Amino acid sequence: MYFCNDFKFEMITILKTLQMNASKQYLLNFGIKPSLQRLAVMKYLMQYHTHPTVDEIYAALHSSIPTLSKTTIYNTLSLFLEEGVIQAVSIDTKNIRYDIDIQPHAHFKCKKCHSIIDVPVPKLCDEIFSISEEFKDLEIQDVEVALKGICKKCKEAEEENRFNQ
Ligand SMILES: [Zn+2]
Ligand SMILES: [Zn+2]
Repeated sequence: MYFCNDFKFEMITILKTLQMNASKQYLLNFGIKPSLQRLAVMKYLMQYHTHPTVDEIYAALHSSIPTLSKTTIYNTLSLFLEEGVIQAVSIDTKNIRYDIDIQPHAHFKCKKCHSIIDVPVPKLCDEIFSISEEFKDLEIQDVEVALKGICKKCKEAEEENRFNQ
């Protein structure tokens, strides 16, 4: 048992180091100086693909890094956006959300549980860029595809409720 716990602890330490190194390398690749705060925000985004808001990131990191303010998180995210490290998602009209995945993909927002799910659309860019001749002069810089509805989990829960009634 002792060995197992020891092993588990070691694995967690190794995983944490890997994550730290990955976030550090990621920032360096984009030419961003990896300060403690930036690393913490990057690590969080890499770990949680939930498209978090500033408030959510603050709530998660505040206890372990008390010096990290909401403003710093906001400024860090703005820098990441500017440098193309992350993308902003505006499917949620109340909050801007942040996404570490910069590949073109659509977002699905569940109207029930409000979760945001990544939806790969393989030919998304081809479709967008095949716009009519009339609009060819537009310089498209960001693409956001917002899908809304009910997610699989909520649909299943709904069906189960109906079945139980
Ligand atoms: Zn849902
Ligand atoms: Zn996404």
